[in-house]
Amino acid sequence: MPRFKEHFVQGAVVAGGRRLISELKSNSSVGLGELIFKVVKSAATGGVGACGPDFLEPAENAHHRKFFHSYAAAGALGVSREKVKSADIDPQLKEILDDLGIGYLVHLGADAITPKGLPMTGIKL
Ligand SMILES: [Zn+2]
Repeated sequence: MPRFKEHFVQGAVVAGGRRLISELKSNSSVGLGELIFKVVKSAATGGVGACGPDFLEPAENAHHRKFFHSYAAAGALGVSREKVKSADIDPQLKEILDDLGIGYLVHLGADAITPKGLPMTGIKL
């Protein structure tokens, strides 16, 4: 995975930063230790999520971007994230899924702005 570290860091920074802002904006009275724990947990989870596309479609050549590296996958993930938001599931699981999704989308965003870009669906008919 040529850009593994780069994608991990991008996902970690965005998911961790997002969690930090979200916690600071909320009126919860978490202590500094818990705040740091939440931000680090989100950063680590976001970093893992950002490795998702290349885990599913390893970057072994310039044409590795198929469905899991496509705008269609980003859209499907966006819809899934909305479903998870309103689902009646454990709030901690929601946070984990949210951070994984953010990381995945960060990877796709980073790949989208490369000269190769992303395919619309990555599926050849
Ligand atoms: Zn990629």
